[in-house]
Amino acid sequence: MPDIKQAEHVLHEVFGFEEFRSLQKDIIQNILNKKDTLAIMPTGGGKSLCYQIPALIFDGLTIVVSPLISLMKDQVDQLTAYGISASYLNSSLSAQEYEATLDQIRRNKLDLLYLAPETLLKGNVLNLLYGLNVECIAIDEAHCISEWGHDFRPEYRQLSSVTEKFDNAVTLGLTATATPRVQKDIANSLGLSNANTFVASFNRKNLYLDVVNKSNPLQQVINFLRRHEEDSGIIYCFSRNQVDELTQNLNANGFNALPYHAGLGESIRTHNQNAFIRDEVDIIVATIAFGMGIDKPDVRFVIHHDMPKNIESYYQQIGRAGRDGLQSDCLFLFSYGDAGKIRYFINQKSGEEQRVAEEHLQKLMDYVEAHQCRRIKLLGYFGEHFNEPNCGMCDFCTGDTPERENITVPVQKFLSTMARTEQRFGYNHILNILLGSRRKEVLKFNHDKLSTYGIGKNLSRPEWKQVYRELMKQDIIVREIEHKSLKLTPKAREILKGNQEVFGVIEEPVQKKRTKSSKSDIESLDFNRNLFKRLKEKRMELARKQGVAPFVIFGDSTLIEMAYYYPQSEESLLKIHGVGRAKSKKYGTDFLDVILEFSQQHNLKERSKSAQPKHKPVKKTLSKNSRPYEVGHMFRNGRSVQDIASHFDVKEGTVISNLIKYVKAGESIPIDHLLDISSLSKSEMQRVRKAFDKHGHEMLRPVYDELNESVSYDELRIVQLYLIVENGSR
Ligand code: ADP
Ligand code: ZN
Repeated sequence: MPDIKQAEHVLHEVFGFEEFRSLQKDIIQNILNKKDTLAIMPTGGGKSLCYQIPALIFDGLTIVVSPLISLMKDQVDQLTAYGISASYLNSSLSAQEYEATLDQIRRNKLDLLYLAPETLLKGNVLNLLYGLNVECIAIDEAHCISEWGHDFRPEYRQLSSVTEKFDNAVTLGLTATATPRVQKDIANSLGLSNANTFVASFNRKNLYLDVVNKSNPLQQVINFLRRHEEDSGIIYCFSRNQVDELTQNLNANGFNALPYHAGLGESIRTHNQNAFIRDEVDIIVATIAFGMGIDKPDVRFVIHHDMPKNIESYYQQIGRAGRDGLQSDCLFLFSYGDAGKIRYFINQKSGEEQRVAEEHLQKLMDYVEAHQCRRIKLLGYFGEHFNEPNCGMCDFCTGDTPERENITVPVQKFLSTMARTEQRFGYNHILNILLGSRRKEVLKFNHDKLSTYGIGKNLSRPEWKQVYRELMKQDIIVREIEHKSLKLTPKAREILKGNQEVFGVIEEPVQKKRTKSSKSDIESLDFNRNLFKRLKEKRMELARKQGVAPFVIFGDSTLIEMAYYYPQSEESLLKIHGVGRAKSKKYGTDFLDVILEFSQQHNLKERSKSAQPKHKPVKKTLSKNSRPYEVGHMFRNGRSVQDIASHFDVKEGTVISNLIKYVKAGESIPIDHLLDISSLSKSEMQRVRKAFDKHGHEMLRPVYDELNESVSYDELRIVQLYLIVENGSR
């Protein structure tokens, strides 16, 4: 019986990879033992190896069923580059090509055969396959079997009756669908019992998640792209018009972008998609029509220029970034205006459909508005409990999100101006009153006589805009679509009466400083950029010559390692990540020549790969110039909270929040005098601690509610900080 040692050998020799990723080993072991299996892993998780490696170990044929016809050529190209004998049958082939492949099958020349489901169900193909030794049937995109999934394919329903007839074949279902309901449906429909289901975590660690307020989207996108020169990425827009417009604007600004949407002819779409896959264009600006047939591994960013439909589509779309495991950036430009548009569409619906759409929007808003690690809400949506104290890869955890502070006073000013003008006006008018403007409109209504006229001068226009955003976000006011006037909600009345405080972010959103914090082992190598560039050029040249996508030849991580270790011989080359025997033979001299020439010119010596520690600890650090870091440092040096607050001219509560971030990033602070600044009595303190015991110390809201809102957030935060430190900074 074949064993896992053999599989490891194939992993090293053929693929040039060092080790299996989580679950790959178990799944492959299962397949080798001919146990039917369902593998659920996120995009980029490494599902393909789960059938490709057994295919090389089995004597007979492995069939891969996939609905994504446009991907089959690239998949087969990739396998061929690894020296594996693979082919495909689908409607895109000419009669001649089709016949040639059938011939290969008849002569038992193939290890892997990719098929569209409708091709497999054809009588002549089935009859041919029945006569052969089929050892494994891998059903890719297995969620297509479920009517609950997003792309149900009726032909998938017939697959189980086909698989049954291949006595010697083990069935492997594969999907990246995270929804438990669909997962269950797949298992039932394919007859795969629970015992053989493997579910990987859906956390894509290498994706940096960032949500920012959309203020000037074109400029925001341009600023982002400037940090991503020469990277491949996708920008999602809501409508075809927006796609066309943004593409034009980007090209006018010197970027290299192509559009993709259903309004473009089929041939233009195919051309633009291929240009992207082959690195001939960097950026694709697209509607949701783009992406299904893309498995480009080195997509370095995904921007949501507009709101996605729901969390599931958002997750799927950002999932197209970073399949190769290298760090990739996901930017979501959010505005309440966009949410309002979606709400407007929802209101046109009715009944169950409306209810579901509302729920989807709400879940997305929860994600956007979360004042906690983005991964908690995102993974929580799929039923996964994420409880790392700091993911190091989202705007919240890297301290990019501004502090929340008590904004009750400006909020009251705004609301009372609304009340005094009978809720008949929009945002700009209210703001003009608050800022004491002499505009015609203001004077015409005698609004310069109001007691709130000019009382908002202590805040700038952008700061007022932030206050307004908080009001909308927290449902304190609503905007009437028809007349664009602002209305108070019952919450607003409580605030005006002084019964309720409001917390929010008032700081102007600043251009964020980012410290890349969670690089993979390969990315933390300080590789030679110039050599990397030359290697990329060589890759492009070879790809063009052979009519394949550049990543088919070598992935970026392989080139990065080459540009760090400067391998000078075939033996050293084989130690590089992603270089197996066949690729080394095929492309080795081409790349070695580039490296040798470059090394000679610059007097560089080969570095030995084995001397490098395999796993460097991944540090999740705060940037040294971030506020939490400075605050934590001062506190450690004995400065008091009051002292620090006056140094930075912020509230003590803000200092405490900074200390919480500092501690959550793994730093430590002395605990002895922490509670001195609390003004709670002993018994109150006990009540608070009990409430934290009950609800955990991650979130304040439940504790605040539990105590009937009797203890302020500032006080709660002090205790929270104490508990976090006491529990060993978890
Ligand atoms: P999925 O089908 O789950 O989206 P893929 O099978 O395409 O993911 O794998 C994603 C990327 O990860 C590919 O570039 C693949 O070569 C790489 N990969 C898979 N398994 C390993 C491994 N054990 N070590 C290194 N790279 C791997
Ligand atoms: Zn996080």
